[in-house]
Amino acid sequence: MTAKRGLLERLAQGPVICAEGFLFELERRGYCSAGEFVPEVALENPEALRMLHRDFQRAGSDVVQAFTYNGHREKMRVIGKEDVLEPLNRAALRIAREVADGNPSGEPDLMAGNISNTNIWNPEDPTTQDEVRGIFREMCGWAAAEGADMLIGETFYYRGEALAALEAMKRHDLPAVVTLGVMADGRMLDGPTPAETCAELERHGADVVGLNCFRGIPTFMPLLREVRAACSGPIAALPLPYRTTSEHPTFFNLPDDDTCTCPAPHGRTFPTALDPLFMNRYEVRQWAEEANALGVSYLGLCCGNNPMLTREVAEAVGRVTEASRFSERMQHHFMYGSHERLPEHMKAQGARA
Ligand SMILES: [Zn+2]
Repeated sequence: MTAKRGLLERLAQGPVICAEGFLFELERRGYCSAGEFVPEVALENPEALRMLHRDFQRAGSDVVQAFTYNGHREKMRVIGKEDVLEPLNRAALRIAREVADGNPSGEPDLMAGNISNTNIWNPEDPTTQDEVRGIFREMCGWAAAEGADMLIGETFYYRGEALAALEAMKRHDLPAVVTLGVMADGRMLDGPTPAETCAELERHGADVVGLNCFRGIPTFMPLLREVRAACSGPIAALPLPYRTTSEHPTFFNLPDDDTCTCPAPHGRTFPTALDPLFMNRYEVRQWAEEANALGVSYLGLCCGNNPMLTREVAEAVGRVTEASRFSERMQHHFMYGSHERLPEHMKAQGARA
């Protein structure tokens, strides 16, 4: 096994790629339910989870993020499955560990434990805050016990909850990445701006701070620039590959009123009818180049991500991935190619096809 560099060592040498977006991609593949979004796949279909990790690894992700998003005590209570909380967490962590260690390209990947917003944090109610701290502590404990190389806390929209997550993460001697999910008004729900909150997290010892999820690239970038300006350490950016607008900055209320002939029965495109609002791979690649040039070194995509888009992000920062072997080769297309064997009458057909 090749020697493995840690997160901070890698960040000092160049960009680190981290694929997120497991809930959406596994829902598309038929392994979890939209809306409920619980990562039971780790127990019920471990081979499907292993394959998705492996697909992201082939596409250039350096981090194998254990799929425990929403796999916390509160959510498991909501679906009546609190009894499988710990087995689920440990199974997801072990699968991630196995894929990270098995990277056939040589150097093992980093395995990350994962905590996220709990849905119950209430800035006015210390009882809920204690409960949330307990949730974070137990999940970080399982991650450390299963050999995580780093911890990721993500999609926090309360400053207080993000700080509580960091506190739980810092109980372990592991690099801590904290990213915020920013809703439409551009502020944390308990007041400060995302940039102020990231700077505060950095002061409290977060190794990487930044933003993920909720916002598509167009409405994510202005906030990311503010975060970059407010912080001195490594910055994380994992936006959504959706065409959000200043009028509709997040995917929660993004309309599809162009040519849609059959709207979702629940009245919004989120989360099941966002497909026509995807950005294309070239837009994603352009974004990754722009973010990298801005000095943002921890890059990936969240909901809506897939291995093809992760490969674009990795290639945008100069990486050649296992999956790059299958990057586009339009020169061999039967009508739009340039190969000498392609007959002129078929090339001429291209414009009329
Ligand atoms: Zn997401």
